[in-house]
Parts: sequence; C-alpha cells; structure tokens
Amino acid sequence: MNPSYDVVIVGGGIQGAGVAQAAAVHGYRTLLLEQHTLAAGTSSRSSKLVHGGLRYLESGRIRLVRESLREREILLRIAPGLVARRDFFIPLYASSRRTKGHVHAGLWLYRLLAGGSVAGFERVPARAWEALDGLETAGLKAVFRYGDAQTDDVALTRAVARSAEEFGAEIHIGTRFVGAERAGVGYEVRSVREGVVATCETRTLVNATGPWVAQTLSRVLPGPPRLPLELVAGTHIITEGVLGKGCYYVEAPSDHRGVFILPWRGRILTGTTERLYGGDPALVAPTPAEIAYLQETLAAYFPGLPTSVAESFAGLRVLPKSGRDLNGRSREVVLLADAPRPRFISIFGGKLTGYRRTAEQVMERLKLVLPGRIPRADTSRLLLPVG
Ligand SMILES: Cc1cc2nc3c(=O)[nH]c(=O)nc-3n(C[C@H](O)[C@H](O)[C@H](O)COP(=O)(O)OP(=O)(O)OC[C@H]3O[C@@H](n4cnc5c(N)ncnc54)[C@H](O)[C@@H]3O)c2cc1C
Repeated sequence: MNPSYDVVIVGGGIQGAGVAQAAAVHGYRTLLLEQHTLAAGTSSRSSKLVHGGLRYLESGRIRLVRESLREREILLRIAPGLVARRDFFIPLYASSRRTKGHVHAGLWLYRLLAGGSVAGFERVPARAWEALDGLETAGLKAVFRYGDAQTDDVALTRAVARSAEEFGAEIHIGTRFVGAERAGVGYEVRSVREGVVATCETRTLVNATGPWVAQTLSRVLPGPPRLPLELVAGTHIITEGVLGKGCYYVEAPSDHRGVFILPWRGRILTGTTERLYGGDPALVAPTPAEIAYLQETLAAYFPGLPTSVAESFAGLRVLPKSGRDLNGRSREVVLLADAPRPRFISIFGGKLTGYRRTAEQVMERLKLVLPGRIPRADTSRLLLPVG
C-alpha cells in the first residue's frame, strides 16, 4: 500500500486544526475530517480566554500554568488580530473566601511563571473603584488588576485551519469518520459525506474528537488504548451591557467558585459552571439551575446590569476519571498512542491556549514513523491568517 496521506486527523476543533497545521508545516500530506463545521464542538463554547489559568495555581498545576503562559505569549505574537491582551480585575469583599494575601501571592507567582515578560499586577486604589463598570462597592475591601488575554475561539480555530490549508492540508467539512482498520503501513480510513462512503489510506491517524474521543476509539481496529474519562459540562450566559474596563474574575456567592464576567462582542459573557455529563456530546445544553447560578453571580457583582439571558451555551471538558473533585482535576492534555512508535494517537482534554504545543508534541511522536521531511516553517513564529 502506498498511502495517500501521511497524517489523517479526525475532528475539526482547535486541537485537530492545530495538528493539521503542524503536520502540513512539517511537510506531510495531511487530511482533516470534520463531521459538521470547524469548531462545532467545545471549541466554540469556551470562555474564550488565552491564559495560564490563575485558578490552576490553587490546585498546584504549576507546569500547566507555566506552559500555558508561554503559549499565551506566542499567540499574542502570531495572532495579533485574534488574541488581545486584557486587564482582569479581582474584587475582594468582606465575604470573599480568598484573602488579599492569597490573591497577591497567586498573582506574584503567575507573573513569575510568565517569565516576567508581561505587565505585572497591582492593587487598584479605592478612588478608582467607582470607574469599574458599576462593580458593587458595598463591602469591597480590595481590587487587584492583572493582565491576561482574550480571543474568539471559533475565529482562532478557523485561522489555524486556514494556515494548515495554506501549507497544503486538505480539510473536509461535513465529513464524518465512521471507522478505521490497521492495513499495510498504517490505516484504511472510512468516512461519509452526504451519504457517500469514501476510503483512504494513511500512515498515521489522530483522534482529535474532543468529547467524542471514546466513540471514535470504538471505531478503530484493533482497539487502541483507552483512558477512563469523564465529561464535565460548563455553561456560559450572554447578557446585555458593556464592560469598558476589562474582565472580572469573581467568586460565585453561593459556593465561592471562580467565575469570569467578560466583555464579549458588545455584551457580557459570564461563566462557567461544572457538572458531570453522561449524555450524547451533541446534546449538551445549559440547565435552568446553571443559568440561575450565573445570573445570581452577575447580579451580585454588577447590580445595575440586566440579567435576562440573550444567549446561553454549554461545552464539554474531557477530564481523566479520578476521585478528586471537579475543580481539582488535572486539566493537562493526555496523548495516548498505540505503540512507542505510534501509528495512532488520541488527544484527551487540554486547553484552547495549549493547542499549538499539543500539536507539536503529537508531531514529535508521529515523526518517529513518518518519512523524514524538512519543516517549512515554525508554528511558534508563523503569523496566523486573519479574516
Ligand atoms: C466551559 C469550557 C470553557 C473553557 N474555556 C477555556 C478557555 O477560556 N481557555 C482555554 O484555553 N480553554 C478553555 N476550555 C478548553 C477548550 O475549550 C477545549 O480544550 C478545546 O476547545 C477542545 O478542543 P478539541 O478540538 O479537543 O474538541 P472540540 O472542539 O470539541 O472538537 C472536536 C471535533 O470533532 C468533531 N467530531 C467528532 N466526532 C467526529 C467524527 N466521527 N467525524 C468527524 N468529526 C468528528 C466534532 O464535530 C468537533 O468539531 C474550556 C472548555 C470548556 C468546556
């Protein structure tokens, strides 16, 4: 068999687009299969932050935060039209669980892990609180400001996919992967588009189907390694109003979880929640209780803003199964291969922010079995196309 592709990727979210870009840039014949449209899954339902994840410091995920901060800096450089630096504010009240010392120490570490290359953090003086978009000032004891970044997750995914196409990758939208079987030096892959079945051969296959990762695994023969996992749903609401100063990271009044209140396309995005989800990934949706929890949080911090919901959406995180509570679970991406010299790799979990590094890690492993090629660019320096 002389395979038509070196790398076939299933899934057109940020991870699949990232691997398609990395594979094409490394000079490989690349095909990406997406059943719906690009970013149809979790990659259109995130909090739209490109960040280290300040809250992960609380669960000791130092390496994850450091790597994500490094990727944030790269994305600010290579996607200036898509990833923008924003001011974030953390208000602390008499009722807050986190103390000033706690937040100060966290932001100090966050800056240190970012390599000191970013704007630092500061206490916002009390005289400036009134200018913070109508933030509740009763009981307010301190406000911290730090820098992080925001993106449009769909636009970012499309830009990465377009970059992949510019380097020769084929992207087949509306094409569902239905199965693959080990054959010759790789896999024979079957897909369906508008009822028509097509087959192709590939040296390597990548499962980047996010919340569908387990379904995809069950369609591959012989069965590749699996990871016990859980899907965790997170909801956001969009409400009317303007946040001109930046983004807010607050404690939900009912359970003290961290919640973001963010400016988003002239309105306000509030999220997120966390609950275990056992249903069909395609059917995940916000629950009334989640929406009420987010409305209550928004109203507590911005009492002057309307809380009626213009839109809401839910997305799914893929987390390794463990005894820890949802907040304390690892957010690190796991790559599971069929062999030390892999022909098949599944991507479990991860963050939007880390897509580029994950893709490079996938390619490092696939290159062990792929023919040698001279890379045509470096994805850490390659500007992403805008528009
Ligand atoms: C609520 C929430 C908030 C988040 N916020 C952030 C954030 O602010 N910053 C951050 O860095 N990360 C964030 N994340 C994490 C980030 O959004 C995800 O890690 C990322 O979007 C996952 O991308 P993915 O490509 O793995 O999966 P997906 O985006 O779900 O892509 C999988 C794709 O596979 C396709 N597919 C499935 N089965 C098939 C098949 N048989 N054939 C063809 N195609 C198929 C699907 O249609 C889908 O498009 C958040 C996650 C959640 C849930």
